[in-house]
Amino acid sequence: MKTEEAIEKLKAEYPNGVELRYVDYRDCIDDSKTQNEIVKTGWADSVEDWYDDWESIQYIIKEVFTEDERVEIAQDDELDQAIKDWMYENDTSDVMKWLLRNTWNVLMFYDLWYEDDGDSFDLDERVKWISEQLQMKWERALADIRRLCIDAYDWWELCILFDWDLADFYWEKSEKYINFKDCTLWIINRWNWSWNYQETNIDLTLPFDRKRIWVDDAYSYSVWEIFGMSRIDDENWFLTDDKKYTYIDFEPIEWDSPADKERKRQEYFDDEKKKGICHFGDEKFSRHTTVYVNDYPCWNKCTKCWRFFID
Ligand SMILES: [Zn+2]
Repeated sequence: MKTEEAIEKLKAEYPNGVELRYVDYRDCIDDSKTQNEIVKTGWADSVEDWYDDWESIQYIIKEVFTEDERVEIAQDDELDQAIKDWMYENDTSDVMKWLLRNTWNVLMFYDLWYEDDGDSFDLDERVKWISEQLQMKWERALADIRRLCIDAYDWWELCILFDWDLADFYWEKSEKYINFKDCTLWIINRWNWSWNYQETNIDLTLPFDRKRIWVDDAYSYSVWEIFGMSRIDDENWFLTDDKKYTYIDFEPIEWDSPADKERKRQEYFDDEKKKGICHFGDEKFSRHTTVYVNDYPCWNKCTKCWRFFID
């Protein structure tokens, strides 16, 4: 059998190309680190590697060619390679797209990047600072910000939480802005498990800057763990090329934001855990080996590093 003849047979059987990789309807991208990689880069290298094309190639060869022809292919490296090359060139499977179609919306936050270590707690100062940053000049907004800040005593981050279709982050995006209508502002302290949120009538247009957007569960404690929340039902955000609302012209982030630094710290603790090591300074319960001490006040202690967790 000549190469041309083999290719003709393939074309006749698969005029619209082949699908070398198969994504089951139950497969999705549910790992938060991979989700975060897609938010940050539009892509995730690891995803495609999960899917093997070997079986499909064997299956197609069996479908298209007779037993005698298959023996011939097996003995002829050049012919075998030409057939595989054709299949790769005409492979229509889009693993990432299919997986994203199967993936639920993901809880994310837009980092407004105000951090406060609590050393200089001054409610009026904070309210003023945030209001200025977000260009909220009118009275109603100030009242909202004041309510938001009033319980925030120590280190916390300011963000907008939203849930979104991860597919919207796939590949390069041309849109420059992200619009939030009636945005709900959150302050979260992921270390002390404290939070506060304030619904507002404020509509903001913010730069679509991947460095400012995070999958909530990608590092440290997630809002799910702190607050028991995994979804937000509003659908008041969208990508756009128009500055539809009050536009906040944030400088693009070019260095490590506090969230970047924290992610690195968390990855370090995760790697250490894989080696069986835990650290007293690690605030995440699940990375320790704890025993329960049933003594008032009830607490858990780590048998390795002696960190304790009050119940
Ligand atoms: Zn420990």
